Amino acid sequence: MGRVFVAGSINMDVVATADRHPRVGETVAGKQVLYFPGGKGANQAVAAARLGASTTLIGRLGKDAFGAELRAFLGAQGIDLGYVQETADAHTGTAIITVAEADNTIVVIPGSNGLVSADDVSVVPLLKGDVAVSQFEIPLPTIAAFFARAGEAGAVTMLNPAPAQKMSDELLALVDILVLNETELGFLAGTELSDSDDAARIIEVARNLQARESQTICVTLGKRGVLALAGREEIAVQGRAVTAVDTTGAGDCFVGALASQLAEGAALRAALAFANAAASISVQRMGAGPSMPTAAEVRAIL
Ligand code: ATP
Repeated sequence: MGRVFVAGSINMDVVATADRHPRVGETVAGKQVLYFPGGKGANQAVAAARLGASTTLIGRLGKDAFGAELRAFLGAQGIDLGYVQETADAHTGTAIITVAEADNTIVVIPGSNGLVSADDVSVVPLLKGDVAVSQFEIPLPTIAAFFARAGEAGAVTMLNPAPAQKMSDELLALVDILVLNETELGFLAGTELSDSDDAARIIEVARNLQARESQTICVTLGKRGVLALAGREEIAVQGRAVTAVDTTGAGDCFVGALASQLAEGAALRAALAFANAAASISVQRMGAGPSMPTAAEVRAIL
């Protein structure tokens, strides 16, 4: 059985709630402050570990209170943190989120995530059958080094290019499975995509982006489910009809779940259906990390 290795970001999300947002220069009294473990890398590792995959996270924390708290939380999820270093050169990645009037503003300070280096990923013991996962919240040259190493070892590489930013053709060519939402697909392909675009148009755009025929592109479509282009084959998995209360981390749940299934040796179609079901459970619960389901919960609805 393969294992999941996630090279990515680890953040503390600090959420302040208030009746309204302050104007520039103004101070308002808030109602509550909440602390949530976050960062796409950490969220995806939590999803994979909760679903039973042997999961290793590669990243960096600062030598500070948030770093210690995040290490304790992630360790309690059963994630191997042997490749999470502490650095004195930056504070732990932090997102400052203000929620008011059903809207939020977010300032993300990458901190230690910006220092995850090619050397950090060069020591990871990847083997054939493992799945190497990353996202765009650590430096792109680090991701390229991680995937090059994974490719040499015969591991599968999975990239979630979020938050969207331009990437080189060289990096895209190192990716076996690209998992992204419609907005990210449109951004990378240099075109506009919206909710009203049908499957044929989404597949056409994915085909234009495909770096090589053996590359798989999975486009998550929110409540509409997921569409995938695997080589020349098209796979559609319908979204599950649920009442969503908080979609934060749905994409991360999907990526972690897909990685966990592929590491177990599942076929792509079955792995997509499993990830779609897992993510549909996560949107029915508040938060990102705490909303990730267990394998038993997913199997119960499949
Ligand atoms: P986020 O940035 O909120 O984490 P995302 O934009 O990366 O999400 P989405 O495409 O919105 O990703 O959602 C990922 C997957 O989660 C979907 O493919 C689907 O399986 C599931 N999902 C999301 N929203 C819903 C919903 N309202 N009902 C059922 N399933 C959902």
